[in-house]
Amino acid sequence: MAAAKINGRTVAYQSTTHEIQQKRPNRTNYGYRIRTAMSMKHSSDDTSISRPPRPTSTPSPTLRVALKTDIIVIGAGQAGLSSAYHLKKRGLAPERGFVVLDRSPQPGGAWQFRWPSLKLSTVNRIHDLPGMRFSEAVDTDAKEVEASVAVPQYFAAYEKAFGLPVYRPVEVMVVCNRGERLRIETDRGNFSARGVINATGTWETAYIPEYPGAERFRGRQLHTKDYRTAEEFAGKHVIVVGGGISAIQLLDEVSRVTTTTWVTRRPPEFREGSFTEDRGRAAVAMVEDRVRRGLPPNSVVSVTGLPVTPAVEAMLARGVLNRLPMFSEILEDGVRWPDGTVVRADVILWCTGFRSSLDHLAPLMLREPSGGITMTGKLATQVAKDPRVHLVGYGPSASTIGANRAGAAAARELMAYLGEEKT
Ligand SMILES: Cc1cc2nc3c(=O)[nH]c(=O)nc-3n(C[C@H](O)[C@H](O)[C@H](O)COP(=O)(O)OP(=O)(O)OC[C@H]3O[C@@H](n4cnc5c(N)ncnc54)[C@H](O)[C@@H]3O)c2cc1C
Repeated sequence: MAAAKINGRTVAYQSTTHEIQQKRPNRTNYGYRIRTAMSMKHSSDDTSISRPPRPTSTPSPTLRVALKTDIIVIGAGQAGLSSAYHLKKRGLAPERGFVVLDRSPQPGGAWQFRWPSLKLSTVNRIHDLPGMRFSEAVDTDAKEVEASVAVPQYFAAYEKAFGLPVYRPVEVMVVCNRGERLRIETDRGNFSARGVINATGTWETAYIPEYPGAERFRGRQLHTKDYRTAEEFAGKHVIVVGGGISAIQLLDEVSRVTTTTWVTRRPPEFREGSFTEDRGRAAVAMVEDRVRRGLPPNSVVSVTGLPVTPAVEAMLARGVLNRLPMFSEILEDGVRWPDGTVVRADVILWCTGFRSSLDHLAPLMLREPSGGITMTGKLATQVAKDPRVHLVGYGPSASTIGANRAGAAAARELMAYLGEEKT
């Protein structure tokens, strides 16, 4: 029997033929070391697994569990941090009771990857995480600070202030059912838990619809998540696809430096007036209704509409919001509509949104034939087919305020379900 130290905790494991040791940089002072015990023999005990075949001729090793805990939170964005905060507040001990696994290199969730021109002044609104105001970590008067700098700064301070046990970078590859426990396989070894709060967001799952001819386009195609700056498109004709807020923002920037064509599947719905709390509640209720019926969540903009901001008014005045319907075909040097109209293009910028990053949960077979996952619980965070699994930042909670509330509900309900606490 050998032992390894993970975040100061000694974990025992059986004989090994070789070991992997990894030490990763960790901005939250949770430096950790995982020793993954690997055996070339097959074992049938609950805590050992066979890895998927490797692209070499070496026989697949069997991995043993590196850490056993009660609840694993996957993802350290707004939803994961809110969940972790509430788990701790409700008395679950870091490490022994719960850990957070995050694949990103530093704190900040998906915000650390947003394009540089997205500033605190141009985001919709970033709600404070529970227990600590944004302004305690960031100078919120400095509106021109990049969101990709300010939010990571806030999240880093938050993780530290509340002593949240975030391990990073640790990517969860799959979550499997092992009877009373769930096995969480990662690129840094395996974890075992009694429940999972999944908070993996959408950033990893960029969505680009399929159009005939996409492969023969000789120009550049990129998605919102690849966008850095408008300047790189100067002198090129850019087709911006998509009717969401990101599409409008990027169209605004690109159209200032070059010529553009804007195409959307449906006519965009601009919304006059401010986005009141009542409107917000109605939008969330519509998405919640869908996920409770097991349907895939719809896009945010389909329920909120597009706000008419001063920037949008200026775009109207500049004539860049002359929207065209979707083209039907992509050519080598442009796009074509069904009536034969052709627009030449050097770049197609797909601002066509994201899907929930849930592939690692596939072995749990949570999806319905409709493709959605039937959700239940107070705020529709609990998976009906497997109540040990909660999805936060999903469907009705896919916003910073929704993620906050979902984290609280998921922590409370999952702890109660596992017998750790009464609701
Ligand atoms: C361009 C854009 C602008 C937005 N602007 C706003 C806004 O102004 N206001 C607002 O309220 N909402 C906004 N949203 C929505 C908002 O970002 C989210 O709802 C919220 O911040 C998402 O938080 P999250 O925790 O769900 O996900 P994320 O911030 O995406 O965090 C998910 C975390 O999970 C990790 N992860 C993913 N997969 C794995 C895995 N397999 N293993 C381990 N870790 C994993 C990721 O590395 C990441 O750190 C915006 C979204 C986009 C795309």
